[in-house]
Amino acid sequence: MQTIPKLTAGTGSSVVVERCQLCDGKELEPIIFLGYLPPVNTMPIIGSIPKEEPAYPALVLSCKKCSLVQLGLTVDPNILFPPEYPYTSGTTKILRDNFAEMYKESQTFIKLGADDLAVDIGSNDGTLLSNFKNGGHRVKGIEPTLMANLANERGIPTERAFFGPEAVKKVVETDGKASVITATNVFAHIENVHQVVESILDLLKEKGVFISESHYWLSLVETLQYDTIYHEHLRYYSLSSLRYLLEQHGLEIFHVKRIPTHGGSIRVYAARKGDYAIQPSVKEIEDAEKNFGLQDKALTEFKRRVVNSKLALMSLLHELKKDGARIVAVGAPSRASTLVNYVGLDEGVIDAVLEIKNSYKIGKYMPGTLIPVRDENLLFEEQPDYALLLSWHIAGELIANLKAKGYKGKFIVPLPEPKIVSSEKEIL
Ligand SMILES: [Zn+2]
Repeated sequence: MQTIPKLTAGTGSSVVVERCQLCDGKELEPIIFLGYLPPVNTMPIIGSIPKEEPAYPALVLSCKKCSLVQLGLTVDPNILFPPEYPYTSGTTKILRDNFAEMYKESQTFIKLGADDLAVDIGSNDGTLLSNFKNGGHRVKGIEPTLMANLANERGIPTERAFFGPEAVKKVVETDGKASVITATNVFAHIENVHQVVESILDLLKEKGVFISESHYWLSLVETLQYDTIYHEHLRYYSLSSLRYLLEQHGLEIFHVKRIPTHGGSIRVYAARKGDYAIQPSVKEIEDAEKNFGLQDKALTEFKRRVVNSKLALMSLLHELKKDGARIVAVGAPSRASTLVNYVGLDEGVIDAVLEIKNSYKIGKYMPGTLIPVRDENLLFEEQPDYALLLSWHIAGELIANLKAKGYKGKFIVPLPEPKIVSSEKEIL
């Protein structure tokens, strides 16, 4: 076993991960170190003089015992999510389609009646639950942010609370227990994941089904989405680590499906042991993880591939800049901050990062840099030579959209291998 580099916590309230967050194991093997990353919402106003800013080590660790992949530092949530942090709904078309499909698929396993209750954890604006409601079932959302009010206005009854024993007690008292509980992108963010699963069990009716969706570690490694690694995401799940988590609480996974959200996610169906027949999908995906070498050779390869992609991107940009090309980047999602900082892009390479009108990021600098974030209109008015796509996981959709709006230049897709394309047809 390699030894873990000593981490320096940025503040007293960040916690170094010395034991696995799932199994308490001590053998945590470093996979890759992406450097010290600034919090993704640290965006000073354009023109302000740079001052001292925090940055946190992004060391990715894999547990030898349960295979959970996790960041080596848990940053104080008050720093990552300050009160002024604008929450956005994030319900894109791909997410809406996915939730509709999830509802349909769930009905092949559990036939819900009018009395059955579906509960969504971290229910946002109620988009997922609207599918269950339209299907004629009772629904209840649990959501800590202001989005809860929006959901209630839209007719999706929502409890404004963090998910945990108290919220569960309240829902059981008012609505009874749930036949279906859903949680999308919850396990990666929440600190005490074991307590969450215990609370799910307290809320789940007999023969009830728990459906979770998580960004999938296999997809991340396959398509080199290292840019989705930042401190809001504490953990990265595979089927085997999810199984380890759920089995510890008596839940059995009976169906698994790979889905396209967030550049590749995994939908997992679980119930109390023996309640449902285990589908062939479970073994298929388990085998796929093994064959890919997700616990051994693929991890070593991952680091080499990430480093090479950084060198290749810099080399491509160098060639273009030598010829005097003007390059802007498009889209400043959280993941863009990891890519920009890991690769080392600065305002000498990229003139600006463009965001659509009304983005709160316009008028600020990208975290850790002096690259200004400007209105997307610049792309159509000034027609820079190249547009680097920072939301490259939806490159095809973006290119079609930007061309339709009148951009005539070329596109740089930075990952998995950097390439220049002129049309969405060149995207696989
Ligand atoms: Zn572990």
